[in-house]
Amino acid sequence: MITKILIANRGEIACRVIRTARKLGISTVAVYSDADRDAVHVKMADEAVHIGPAPSAQSYLVIDKISEAIRATGADAVHPGYGFLSENRGFAERLEKEGVIFIGPPVRAIEAMGDKITSKKTAAEAGVNTVPGYMGLIADADEAVKISNEIGYPVMIKASAGGGGKGMRIAWNEAEAREGFQSSRNEAKSSFGDDRIFIEKFIDQPRHIEIQVLGDQHGNVIYLGERECSIQRRNQKVVEEAPSSFLDEATRKAMGEQAVALAKAVGYFSAGTVEFIVDGKRNFYFLEMNTRLQVEHPVTELITGIDLVEQMIRVANGDRLDLSQEEVRLNGWSIESRLYAEDPYRGFLPSIGRLTRYRPPEEGQLANGTITRNDTGVYEGSEISMYYDPMIAKLCTWAPSRSDAIAAMANALDDFEVDGIGHNLPFLSAVMAHSRFCSGNITTAFISEEWPEGFQGVEPDNDQARLLAAVAAFAHLTDESRKTRISGTLANHARRLGADWVVTAGDCACTLSAVLSEDCLKVQFADGTAMELVSDWMPGDQHGRFVADGRPVGVKLSKASAGWRLRFRGVDLVHHVLTPRVHALSGFMPVKQAADTSKQLLCPMPGVITQVMVQAGDTVEAGQALATVEAMKMENLLKAERKAVVKSVKAAPGQSLAVDDVIMEFE
Ligand code: ADP
Ligand code: ADP
Ligand code: MG
Repeated sequence: MITKILIANRGEIACRVIRTARKLGISTVAVYSDADRDAVHVKMADEAVHIGPAPSAQSYLVIDKISEAIRATGADAVHPGYGFLSENRGFAERLEKEGVIFIGPPVRAIEAMGDKITSKKTAAEAGVNTVPGYMGLIADADEAVKISNEIGYPVMIKASAGGGGKGMRIAWNEAEAREGFQSSRNEAKSSFGDDRIFIEKFIDQPRHIEIQVLGDQHGNVIYLGERECSIQRRNQKVVEEAPSSFLDEATRKAMGEQAVALAKAVGYFSAGTVEFIVDGKRNFYFLEMNTRLQVEHPVTELITGIDLVEQMIRVANGDRLDLSQEEVRLNGWSIESRLYAEDPYRGFLPSIGRLTRYRPPEEGQLANGTITRNDTGVYEGSEISMYYDPMIAKLCTWAPSRSDAIAAMANALDDFEVDGIGHNLPFLSAVMAHSRFCSGNITTAFISEEWPEGFQGVEPDNDQARLLAAVAAFAHLTDESRKTRISGTLANHARRLGADWVVTAGDCACTLSAVLSEDCLKVQFADGTAMELVSDWMPGDQHGRFVADGRPVGVKLSKASAGWRLRFRGVDLVHHVLTPRVHALSGFMPVKQAADTSKQLLCPMPGVITQVMVQAGDTVEAGQALATVEAMKMENLLKAERKAVVKSVKAAPGQSLAVDDVIMEFE
């Protein structure tokens, strides 16, 4: 019997595993680096062992240090989470040798599914559909072009050792195939120390749909339905859901049975995921198998009622699965939003800093029957460092139907307060509000097709603009009337509030009259319509619950440059509540000009300069590579926007820069 589990990971997944271990009465050991001394997983665990400096290559990825921590604490089992050592065959082998239980699949299954080329061959042999293409290794760019021509464009060039969307390129023609082969190979070599490349057909209208499998050590394997993860940027998932709106019962069964066949072929046990790419005609093809717990596993838990971590622990103990395929029921709909420390307005580049505010929405079942779950490993005041993955939390909702689960997610996002760092909450809200997402007609190109110029924020629609104008008026009048009460009779007279206001936001102005009594604001708009807004919001609260004509909404409010910054459904606008006279005069105010930065190359994200390719005096052409910046496992190539002459270089390789620090100046 497992009695003490060491979790060889950090962040939300370490917390997730500890939660289930505690439920099962098993004690837990956390490991932590210098950067994680005060982390939630360390506080949650019964014991914690320090394993070294912040960089994961010196802590979380060092097998010797984990092994030492196991010995020191007498843990009899290890859960690896995802990432880090979870799919490292050497780690599983080492534990086996030391008589420690690895809460995951057997070594031979990790090995068989460890690289994309071998696993694709194994899958084909097990009768699984694979993406048409070339199954061998490719020697050089000429061969890459030849094979791509044979497969037919577009093709996907992939690193065999790839993961996390790295080492992957689409090529639409010969030139791109040549270039893509080179860049995939370089990226694969630097990221994985393995430059083996293969090429397959790029699947048309692709949707990413994966099957959760679960097996025991007695040869039983079942599948727990699918998850759709088509909402991706940089080939990485952002929003997932279960089930998929695209699968019919027959396709689900066929995919499930192929996934089980593959698992059986490699003697798989524990939880695992077989990823498929599905085309517009519901043809499905094997992509890869992830031999671990998947980031997005909560959506499966929410529709099946199965605790996957518990199942992994029971299987590792040697128990038989306690349910059969027939007993698996998919109930309702669940959506997961990955909250990332990344700036959606700057191409989703990572962002770091302190979470000056972190208030997740209430978890559990709401009065309307929907469920909210938030998996996280941070708290207000936590530092998001550049050393690890930028994921802050995974917010999930469940409801009987897809549309209700989306609505519940939109509400939960409105109630989620995060400040201090760049984050993608407004983008996630924009996805939930997007008619194409709501229709279910999605592919992995959804984000790039719907925001081809990048995400620039959400414009409020007419209803939202009216609601926000009313909320701003509510805030302003509440704030003013409180001041009036504080400052006594004389001032009271002077400050008597009028009823007519103009609320401006961006380029829009909304004329209204508003009367506040207690916690209710009665609003009359210029077009004759009316609204009644009720709230217990008080000045100082940064989140307010309002009931607008009977409809409950959550809005984030904070004071900003003599106005109110309101955030709602991805809209983020400063509202000014002005008397008609002040509004009339405000047209004469000078507008502040933004600084001219066109002659500078600014650092787009906090990170370390890894390379500077030019020097002072060089003439650079549009598109020419200037420098590379690395942060949070992502390398970003900065290119010249136009032809220019480099005047001076301000940053050197190895230097850490903040957002908007100057890297170089042009003439
Ligand atoms: P998934 O399909 O579950 O997102 P990925 O292969 O993209 O699978 O990566 C799994 C997760 O592990 C990702 O969310 C990523 O953040 C994390 N991850 C990937 N590589 C590493 C690593 N080297 N160290 C820590 N975490 C990692
Ligand atoms: P990783 O190990 O990085 O997760 P995958 O092979 O799972 O790599 O692919 C990641 C994503 O890239 C997929 O979810 C899908 O969006 C896209 N992709 C991969 N292969 C193909 C393909 N042949 N055709 C279309 N899209 C693909
Ligand atoms: Mg994948």
